[in-house]
Amino acid sequence: MVYYRLGEPDVRVQRPCRNRPDRNSMPDSILLIEDEEALRMTLGDRLRKEGYVVACAADGDEGFEKAASLPFDLIVLDVMLPGRSGFTVCEDIRKAGLATPILMLTARARTGDKVAGLTIGADDYVTKPFDTQELVARIEALLRRAPNRPPGARDLYQFGGVRVDLRGTEATRDGKPVSLSAREFRLLRYFIDHPGATLSRAELLTQVWGHSGSMFTRTVDMHVASLRQKLEHNSKRPRHFLTVQGLGYKFRP
Ligand code: CA
Repeated sequence: MVYYRLGEPDVRVQRPCRNRPDRNSMPDSILLIEDEEALRMTLGDRLRKEGYVVACAADGDEGFEKAASLPFDLIVLDVMLPGRSGFTVCEDIRKAGLATPILMLTARARTGDKVAGLTIGADDYVTKPFDTQELVARIEALLRRAPNRPPGARDLYQFGGVRVDLRGTEATRDGKPVSLSAREFRLLRYFIDHPGATLSRAELLTQVWGHSGSMFTRTVDMHVASLRQKLEHNSKRPRHFLTVQGLGYKFRP
């Protein structure tokens, strides 16, 4: 196994990425600030396998120094760090005028952490222990949403046998074109932008339809059913558009 030296941001890997139509463009770089060595190593290796250039920092001070002195496309930031906490690092990064997307790793027991993190300028959070695939999906979603992306970058998204062209508003399943209504496409896009998150019917109504209130929740159910029909291999046993009993829906890439 190859371990990269800490602080080595220049490992250039050609990204074999499904989401990247322009194969000649530079791979995205991620700064991983995490004090648990085992997690730092495994997560770093996984992200490199996904084609990212990864630099690591083992505490908050080192993390902030790197974030402030090197350009990164995204920062994964643990909350519980020795010395300067993840919250302080996040605040300091924003105070320094950096808009780099920040994804925070919070402990499940501390629900207050999520709110606090988002209030001080984090863009998303994942609770520990997390599923690495979900974390990777969240990172991809954050990078896609990041401002100032070059045109043409990251407009393809793939899950299961489904391939979605987000700019061309087209989708295929197993290579065959799938016809989606404008509303279905907006719903699909919202799911893709929020992988692994539990989305209530009310949130989907507000974000996708622009309605508030709960009068039209049946509309959401009908559209999710339609996405399952068109995009799942077996709509009766969905693997991607999941029902969260009593709460809403969850997209799992
Ligand atoms: Ca920690």
